[in-house]
Amino acid sequence: MPAVAISEIVGPASTAGRGVGAFNVIGIEHAEAIVAGAEAAGAPVVLAISQNCVAYHGALEPIAAAMLALAGAAAVPVAVHLDHATGEDLVRAAADAGLGSVMYDASGLPYAGNVAATARVSRWCHDRGIWTEAELGEIGGKDGVHSPRARTRPDQAAAYAAATGVDALAVAVGSSHAMLTRDAVLDLGLIARIHQAVPVPLVLHGSSGVPDEGLAAAVTAGMTKINVATQLNKAFTAAVRARLAADPALVDPRRYGADGRDAVAREVTRLLQVLRAAGTC
Ligand SMILES: [Zn+2]
Repeated sequence: MPAVAISEIVGPASTAGRGVGAFNVIGIEHAEAIVAGAEAAGAPVVLAISQNCVAYHGALEPIAAAMLALAGAAAVPVAVHLDHATGEDLVRAAADAGLGSVMYDASGLPYAGNVAATARVSRWCHDRGIWTEAELGEIGGKDGVHSPRARTRPDQAAAYAAATGVDALAVAVGSSHAMLTRDAVLDLGLIARIHQAVPVPLVLHGSSGVPDEGLAAAVTAGMTKINVATQLNKAFTAAVRARLAADPALVDPRRYGADGRDAVAREVTRLLQVLRAAGTC
């Protein structure tokens, strides 16, 4: 079975008010762990690969092929998604590699330029059956749209979604990328207002910095796709560090790699259960 279209995961979840976990892959161990964690939770999942991770590997194709193979063999629906692509060449590479969805990030551009570039990429993707996600630019705070102080305006979000034709919209509601602590406070009232104003599913980036209760409340308020990267890297690295510290003579990467992979799978299962609980309350 091939990878599932992300619309088949995000669409029904959005309609039903459920959350979808979208987890960033680093290497194949992450991808294996995310699929295993989703299977243990009995939940669909999105495997995401970022432009930064493509740069780490030096190319998209090998890791994308591994992700698609794992998605195709999974016991639950798994979609494979390109996360935070700032270049149109990488969007084209994702299409060539068989990925079904992309997040095109023109948020560094002024509003009009962002709208024009995103509308162009969205049209190009839709002509090829590819689902697109995008985000508004800097709204407040000097660290950009993902500053914890940045806020998306509901009226501008609605205008942006209509003008670009995107299938999902990443919004700034209090989370921030790469947080090592889970103490971000989301603006739940704003999530609800954006959800009312915007017809497409909403995406929360920087979810690793949000505690479990905050993630559940965000879904209840109208958030659908929950992007998690740093939280899994914390789990992976802590498990590897503990194993290496306990056994300084260890050299076989399979031994500590398996510990990291198991830790990621457990955290994926746990987070998917948090999201599912939010959707049923
Ligand atoms: Zn992000």
